[in-house]
Amino acid sequence: MPGNYNEEKMKRVALVSLGCAKNLVDSEVMLGILEKQQYDLVPEIEMADVIVINTCGFIHPARQEARDVIRKAILEKTRTKSKKIIVAGCFVQRSQDSLRKAFPEVDAWTGVTDFDKIGQIIEGKSYKNAKNCFLYDHTSPRLLSTPPAWAYVKISEGCSKSCSFCAIPLIKGPYRSRNIPSVAEEARKLVSKGIREINLVSQDTTFYGKDLRLKDGLVLLLKELLNIDDLGWIRILYSYPEEITDSLLEIMCEEKICSYLDIPFQHSHPYITKRMKRGLDGKKSLKLLKRIRKKNPDIVIRTSLVVGFPGEGKQEFRDLKSFVAQARFDHLGVFIYSPEEGTSCYELGDPVKESVKMRRKEDIMDIQSVISYENNRKYIGLSIEALIEGTLKEDESLMVGRGQFQAPEVDGIIFISTEERKTILFNSIQKVEITGRDVYDLYGNINR
Ligand code: SF4
Repeated sequence: MPGNYNEEKMKRVALVSLGCAKNLVDSEVMLGILEKQQYDLVPEIEMADVIVINTCGFIHPARQEARDVIRKAILEKTRTKSKKIIVAGCFVQRSQDSLRKAFPEVDAWTGVTDFDKIGQIIEGKSYKNAKNCFLYDHTSPRLLSTPPAWAYVKISEGCSKSCSFCAIPLIKGPYRSRNIPSVAEEARKLVSKGIREINLVSQDTTFYGKDLRLKDGLVLLLKELLNIDDLGWIRILYSYPEEITDSLLEIMCEEKICSYLDIPFQHSHPYITKRMKRGLDGKKSLKLLKRIRKKNPDIVIRTSLVVGFPGEGKQEFRDLKSFVAQARFDHLGVFIYSPEEGTSCYELGDPVKESVKMRRKEDIMDIQSVISYENNRKYIGLSIEALIEGTLKEDESLMVGRGQFQAPEVDGIIFISTEERKTILFNSIQKVEITGRDVYDLYGNINR
């Protein structure tokens, strides 16, 4: 049961951030607000008086993870009889009533509209509920949790697409862009703190500005960001296939813009893509990839796919395997289909057995691991620019970094050996001689 607390004492806060990069930005905004309100931020829930859990509610495995973290927090509360638990985020936005019934020990709940009032929520003070999903801007406090070399910048919230399997529009509402001056001002501030790489994130980054009636909004934003001195790399994550324009591919030839595109294609078989309400089947997607690679032969492409969607039989899955073999992506992630209440394909049920879904995911990753390993061959012997992120925890003699062709947290890294470790900054861009490769990672030296 929510307890009577000595509010004075409720000063140490631990925040657990679950889910995607966009959720991490929301967590960093909550941390920034709490720091500004003089809370002590601690890394472990065992050290905290208040535990804040920022949940993901996108698919079943994410909700399972959130329940496990909530249970762990409740155990910790029961153990000490003096902790407060606040649960926030997408899972709460979707299923607050059932969560309240399942976890009566939790002290307060907030979805995605009011987490900027985290201070009042901790203190149990009342506040006016906002209508829309909270979207921060350059004036919002934010405490970065990523390495000093890079940061995510969320440029919008919500999504106006209607992919039949996706619950995001139900959770976050329609697409809302931040304005260009606000994103640029935030980027400038981050660079002034030493950030060298900015990763633009949203649910659909290529849709940016359309709700503001901007034509080619993302290109306009990139033009603005290119003017920021000392900003080394700009990366575009979460693109939508049909929104990749020639003008976007044009501006991506700029040195500062990573020659990297993350384009979730989801599936290839026309019967499945139609049921998914996705515009491009495999044939059209391969044509788009050909157009992109003709414009920019060195571009690196990441995608994500869904296996086990209702109706995906042996033939449809064979088609997907052949698509992956032909497309030769540099990086690829696979989700197994999770039926989501409220989505337009929910009534199709979940006919593909879990074991079959898991095997199909492995099959696709097996095909991809061969392609990734072969693709990595092209870096051997090259001297490439790497953003230094730090040293390897397990082996301090090795530094770790990434090339423009590797996005943070999802793609491989570069293990770097050097005699000059002490003089290399953890957010500098260095020339690295690539000497070895793995399926996803690379090995290299810095010889200055
Ligand atoms: S574009 Fe992405 S976030 Fe939007 S509905 Fe489709 S899958 Fe969901």
